[in-house]
Amino acid sequence: MNGNLKLALQKKGRLTEKSLELLNLCGLDIENYSERLVVSARNFPIDILFLRDDDIPEYVQDGVVDIGIVGENVIYEKQSGTEVLEKLGFGRCSLMFAYPEKNELQKIEDINGKTIATTYPHILKEYLTKNNLKAKVIELSGSVEIAPSLGVADLICDIVSTGNTLMMNKLKKSFKVFDSEAVLISAEKILKDSKLNEILNDLLRRIRSVKTAHSSKYLMMNIPKNSLEKILKIIPSLKSPTVLHLAEENMLAVHAVIPSDKFWQIVNDLKIAGASGILLLPIDNMIQ
Ligand code: ATP
Ligand code: MG
Repeated sequence: MNGNLKLALQKKGRLTEKSLELLNLCGLDIENYSERLVVSARNFPIDILFLRDDDIPEYVQDGVVDIGIVGENVIYEKQSGTEVLEKLGFGRCSLMFAYPEKNELQKIEDINGKTIATTYPHILKEYLTKNNLKAKVIELSGSVEIAPSLGVADLICDIVSTGNTLMMNKLKKSFKVFDSEAVLISAEKILKDSKLNEILNDLLRRIRSVKTAHSSKYLMMNIPKNSLEKILKIIPSLKSPTVLHLAEENMLAVHAVIPSDKFWQIVNDLKIAGASGILLLPIDNMIQ
């Protein structure tokens, strides 16, 4: 016990790189991890353990580690008694039904009497019961998408993000069971050890500031003085915009923090209203 907060990350997989990137953006200088099981940060009291994602909920629940980053799909499938502290906005995917192109699945009731292959038997059975559907569930540990062509199942229920794997196996997306993203979990909302809880709260504050910053951009532009009122009406600013004088008379500079996804909706209106030299800059961190 070195008094450090223990965090479990996926050792090698879809969540590894994004999880480490998030920790870097939080200012954590993490030792080069390559093939090691545990690494620490040079400037933050944390030990990072690299595990298979399936094992993370149980390790968190049993107190082997204090917190973990894992997909919601894994937590619900493992039915672990862990708490979601924060959604992390990456590793987005959906658990969906997919069927061979020739066997059309028109309405959810068409699932009745069918055989479904999945690696998510718990979530699937719960979904079937909730929707009053009766189907045979075949649990596989991987490569579910080949089950229909092998004649093992009529359809599958699997994790989909882009849908490329389905397409390659001549399967079509159908009804969605649920959406998932990576989340930070712990055994309890508040850790028993107050020192560890302080470290966790520091980390959570940093994660939240990175998340807000990433969903925002810094917008800068020059505008004619007389279009200020019009421009301010267009900008969906999170806070009151900054208005500065320029050396050139009759011109102003306007700076504002805006939600990233709004930029392309407003850029034309800004131009029509007379804005020029429009710049959109990323924000690393934003402390509210
Ligand atoms: P491990 O060896 O750690 O058990 P894995 O093969 O079970 O790895 P990955 O395929 O690396 O897991 O996926 C990890 C998580 O990434 C998934 O549980 C899910 O939450 C998320 N994810 C995002 N997109 C996809 C996708 N297209 N297919 C599968 N998982 C995805
Ligand atoms: Mg796994």
